[in-house]
Amino acid sequence: MRFAGKVALITGAGSGIGRAVARRLAAEGAEVYALDIDGSRLAETVRGADRPMTARTADLSDPDSCSAAVADCVAALGRLDVLGNIAGIYLAAHTVDMARDAYRKVMAVNLDAYFFLAQAAIPHLLASGGNIVNIASNAGIQGVPYSAAYCASKGGVIQLTRSLAVEFLKTALRVNAIAPAGTNTNIAASASFPTDMDPDLAARMAGLRGMAEPEEVAALFSFLASEEARSVTGAVYTLDNGLTAS
Ligand code: NAD
Repeated sequence: MRFAGKVALITGAGSGIGRAVARRLAAEGAEVYALDIDGSRLAETVRGADRPMTARTADLSDPDSCSAAVADCVAALGRLDVLGNIAGIYLAAHTVDMARDAYRKVMAVNLDAYFFLAQAAIPHLLASGGNIVNIASNAGIQGVPYSAAYCASKGGVIQLTRSLAVEFLKTALRVNAIAPAGTNTNIAASASFPTDMDPDLAARMAGLRGMAEPEEVAALFSFLASEEARSVTGAVYTLDNGLTAS
């Protein structure tokens, strides 16, 4: 019960890693404020959880939705201890073919929302001695073909994590990131690449040790968000079966 008496706002809680994190923190005693754009998936997350959660739908690509969600969370649950920035989308394309709207959407969901949610949450996290855990990606560390926008957004998440950690070094606020690679979720199952993808480049994307399960990411998340990680800030933990090391 590491999160008894604590409130955690978890984005992307309707599916995959966000769902596993929301359920894990709830199981460890947190009051979870679960956010997602998809209401029916969110309801499924709540149904399968050990304890009740507060669930809300929002399109986090709109900066106003980000600040409104934080305000609603604090109004409903009285405080904020953990911000889990997890919602994300993946779009692959030849860079020259990627529509501007598609590029903007990737950046808005994967990076801008992480910034605007952090911006709104920080005053509350300073008050509670709380922390932020951002979900980055191996794609924020290494190049991935046909994924320039996604890689740029995830590289941005890593630098957002480090610079927030440094800005608040003199406070109790901690900011960390997890960089998973292939994890069994909807994003991974629905990723579609250009049909004329170069097979040599495709072969370089696969690791040798298979996929991780979202619950493994949730286990690392709950450690980083807990008091046991009180000396960990500005860190980027890979959970990638050795992909970025090889
Ligand atoms: P997922 O598709 O299962 O979950 C993503 C969730 O984000 C979904 O529930 C979706 O509805 C929500 N979402 C998307 N757009 C939104 C918006 N505009 N507003 C609010 N919610 C929105 O995928 P996942 O793998 O669990 O993804 C979670 C995070 O993990 C993402 O940031 C992703 O980039 C990252 N990641 C995933 C993998 C992988 O292989 N699955 C690898 C590295 C990083």
